[in-house]
Amino acid sequence: MKVIIDGKDVELQEQKTILKVAEEIGIEIPTLCHHDGLSSYGSCRLCIVEITNNGNTEIDTACTRSVEDGMEIKTATERLTEERKLIAELLLAQAPESEKLKASLSKLGVQESRFEAREDSDCIVCGRCVRACKEEVGAGAITFVGRGYKTKVDTPFSINSDVCIGCTACAEVCPTGAITVEDEEAMRYIRYFNTELELAECAECGKYINPKRMIEKLKKEDFAYYPEENFELCEACRRNKEMNKFADKFLEAK
Ligand code: SF4
Repeated sequence: MKVIIDGKDVELQEQKTILKVAEEIGIEIPTLCHHDGLSSYGSCRLCIVEITNNGNTEIDTACTRSVEDGMEIKTATERLTEERKLIAELLLAQAPESEKLKASLSKLGVQESRFEAREDSDCIVCGRCVRACKEEVGAGAITFVGRGYKTKVDTPFSINSDVCIGCTACAEVCPTGAITVEDEEAMRYIRYFNTELELAECAECGKYINPKRMIEKLKKEDFAYYPEENFELCEACRRNKEMNKFADKFLEAK
């Protein structure tokens, strides 16, 4: 398969998305909803590119569109730059107070939005948190609720989730910083989702570690070479235990 991206000839053995191919040859296409470990979604639309194939030119999202033999792709034309700025302004209006989002969009030359700002929102409905929770964690604790302009991410019925394991994957992938995780004494609070979880104590030193529900889930997974009891230890005690084991083996061998 042969394609041309920004004037560069590229030969491919397998099908990949335009975003992936561009990344591999050092062309950076802006995106907010894409995350390498998650399925493609195409919601933020910042990664739009111009594609010419069989004499037709169209605009599509690079994260969802796969390359096809003979495609000519342009990633940074004047038209794309202008459209991306417009999209960026719309995204900013959805999460006007997010400093993290502002920092990302300033790279596109956008610092303000001419559109009406959505109140009390830090969410651009990119779906990264929903996908991470479902695809990576297998919990499916959060989903999209509402319609159109009022769409947001939440737990079903907006109540304390009984399937969330408090792993923090949602907060880690969020491009706006909307989701925060706070550990206070014996509790973990994910206030964005009205969710609170009880933390377990390290079986050795008593320090609070991960939520009990998360440990229960991890114990049920098949980690062939990982001792189950390690999930009940804090990092320092886990390391100590491994060191002691190593020292015992070393002395035995002597
Ligand atoms: S909370 Fe964050 S990760 Fe989830 S949809 Fe909104 S912006 Fe995206």
